[in-house]
Amino acid sequence: MEELAIFGGKPVREKAIYYGRQCIEQDDVDAVVSTLTSDFITCGPRVKDMEKQLCEVTGAKYAVAVCNGTAALHLSAMAAGFGPGDEVIVSPITFAASANCVRYCGATPVFADIDNETYNIDPECIRKLITPKTKGIVAVDFTGQAVKLDEIRQICKEHGLILIEDAAHAMGTKYKGQPVGSIADMTCFSFHPVKTVTCGEGGAITTNDEELYRHLMRLRTHGITRDPSEMAHPTDALWYNEQVELGFNYRLTDFQAALLCSQLKKLPKYTKRRKEIVKLYDEAFADMPEIQVQKEIPESDTTRHLYVLRLHLEKLSCTRRQFFDALYAENTCPQVHYLPVYWHSYYEKLGYPKGLCPNAEAYYESSMSIPIYYSLTDEDVNDVIRAVKKIVAYYRK
Ligand SMILES: *Cc1c(COP(=O)(O)O)cnc(C)c1O
Repeated sequence: MEELAIFGGKPVREKAIYYGRQCIEQDDVDAVVSTLTSDFITCGPRVKDMEKQLCEVTGAKYAVAVCNGTAALHLSAMAAGFGPGDEVIVSPITFAASANCVRYCGATPVFADIDNETYNIDPECIRKLITPKTKGIVAVDFTGQAVKLDEIRQICKEHGLILIEDAAHAMGTKYKGQPVGSIADMTCFSFHPVKTVTCGEGGAITTNDEELYRHLMRLRTHGITRDPSEMAHPTDALWYNEQVELGFNYRLTDFQAALLCSQLKKLPKYTKRRKEIVKLYDEAFADMPEIQVQKEIPESDTTRHLYVLRLHLEKLSCTRRQFFDALYAENTCPQVHYLPVYWHSYYEKLGYPKGLCPNAEAYYESSMSIPIYYSLTDEDVNDVIRAVKKIVAYYRK
């Protein structure tokens, strides 16, 4: 048996690779540099271009560019009208921001358990949690796979709920042939460097609802409007603008928008490569009983952001922690996505008990994400597979 690197053996590879990284090419650099010397570096034409391009890619009527994905979620929650006393149903297996946006508005996140095979929020669990206080759902397309949008939209329709789709992982994904971004009431994207397309920090909300769009645009800039029809004291004075509610400065710069435009043009090739990597991993792990491959629902044509390695720990003589550390030592560095949101001590202090979502907790305790990104070569993927197989062979019961 090969000695694991963690016990002094030779690591599978010399140079470490991580679970995600950006791909910035010369055309991206040129787009940013040319914007820096243009007339506008913020509030200019590139932000408009980016919003137009987002509408083209997602098929949504409207897009609002903002400074990060969390800001997109915050403004969506505000535009949805969430407030104190309201309950909003959220997936527990997500980045904390998906629930924090509900807290920002003073509303209460209610965590619905996930499906054991897709790891996405389970519509049946959502149904069980609906009360007269329920106002909306924040559904997360975890790893990039679309949630069961038909079922969830049906629940929203029956109970008059607003659906916010957290598609931070899902740029490029289609549901029943329709791009994510044009389906929920509001869809939020993140353009952080680990996501499929990036502009450093950035985000966006897409919607087909003109009223929500106008509200989001206003909230992005302090709650200030230049549209007389939205003012309490309209005038035709050229300088006049009016703050009609409390908003934020969540704007994106033009050079970031230029970077995102450049990246979005390359989305098809990013999608293609991510799908190839998923296929290589799926094939390598398909016949290994120690590993559970994530189930794909046929409705979702997925641009995968994360590749989850889920362990059947009962078939291994190691813990998740030992497996993770062993993989790390082989220089094929994983990460864990995510701690159930309500296990964070902030949420624990709010009174959410352990055991709330058993599937989510079991998922967390047996999973890690392995490298997947555009510039990962077949050789890199094979290194990761070799490392996983080496560790499984070592700990196999
Ligand atoms: C990355 C991410 C966010 C937050 O996006 P930022 O741009 O980092 O603020 C929100 N939700 C999910 C699921 C994410 O992965």
